[in-house]
Amino acid sequence: MRSCAKSIEKLCKEIINFSKDKKNIYIYGTGRTGIRCSKLLKFLDIPVCGFIVSHEKYKNSVRGIDAGIIYTIDEFQVEPKDGVIMASVPKFFPEILPALKEKTLSYMVYTDAKPILEITTKVGCSVNCKYCPQSKLVAAYQAKERDKILSFNSFKTYLDKIPPLVLIRFCGMSEPFLNPECGKMIRYAVEKGFDIDLYTTLVGVEQNEFLSLLKILPEGSITLHLADAFQNCNIPVTKEYVSMVKSVFASPGRLCNCVSYHGELHPELEGIVPEGTVIWNEMQDRAGNLSEEEVNVYHQEKSGPVICTENYGYSAMLDCNILLPNGEVALCCMDYGLEYLLGNLNEESYLDIRTGENIRKIRKEMLADGDDTLICRRCNLAREIL
Ligand code: SF4
Repeated sequence: MRSCAKSIEKLCKEIINFSKDKKNIYIYGTGRTGIRCSKLLKFLDIPVCGFIVSHEKYKNSVRGIDAGIIYTIDEFQVEPKDGVIMASVPKFFPEILPALKEKTLSYMVYTDAKPILEITTKVGCSVNCKYCPQSKLVAAYQAKERDKILSFNSFKTYLDKIPPLVLIRFCGMSEPFLNPECGKMIRYAVEKGFDIDLYTTLVGVEQNEFLSLLKILPEGSITLHLADAFQNCNIPVTKEYVSMVKSVFASPGRLCNCVSYHGELHPELEGIVPEGTVIWNEMQDRAGNLSEEEVNVYHQEKSGPVICTENYGYSAMLDCNILLPNGEVALCCMDYGLEYLLGNLNEESYLDIRTGENIRKIRKEMLADGDDTLICRRCNLAREIL
């Protein structure tokens, strides 16, 4: 659960408005937030003239910044129409703000945005988890002529339309490695500077390919959906599979902090998952998308205004969306019936989709006191707010 983040569309609008009457834009801060801010400005085609830091010593600790000169605030000479975007963590604000005011600099405060786009690399999943409404997804998806597999070229096209602050999650509504180009897509997204993570059963990936991906995946980026003792999921427990699971935990750095399985862990995997790893084994009916005959789990019904606890904690930002192989973007990982499609990256930009009529309508319905058919009112990730 995260907090204190802004919606990506609002952040972009604020930066564009701030920059439009400025001649030179500088970023105050060269840490992780400063780097994220510079990536976003590059995406928005706003040139950055340089960076500002509070002390000389910070000039040498800069990593990952490829633009402009770095000034300390003392040596920075203000020109008319300079603007500074303060991209630092809040604990430094009391130090930075008086310095900016003293120099009578026009500034705005950057508040990071951390949206997520989950990539469905294929529709139709052979893992066939008992607690996944895959058949509902396949029926809804095939009701129209749509590409069932995400091609690498389409992935590249879609990624170009996505601001680099969006976390690219290889997960979506099916096992990502069932698409043979998944590894290539992961490498491409990393190369393009996106933060990524991966939720996988390891079905479909070859051991050598997986071992090579482990070298580029960031710390904490893997969630493993493991085989269970009752074969609730079709994950073949071969020697190679067990060895791949072991390699995740044997890699330098802590790549995986969280695993999930349905019910009890498969006996062949016992002793592999280190202590302290978060375990998800709670069953849910995917916002009413599984019938009672299919699963025997608690079904939730809510009424009145609700907010979503996915991603940012408690909000109606709805910014953990799902990309489908044909470029369509669905509301979230609960919409297996594809009843809440937000737009299509072949026709619109990501920011257009995030501000479009479809998402605005859903937000309005969430916060209103009506429409009990809205998917959120039967979702375990929604919370009633009144
Ligand atoms: S259905 Fe659930 S996860 Fe999806 S937006 Fe509504 S509350 Fe969030």
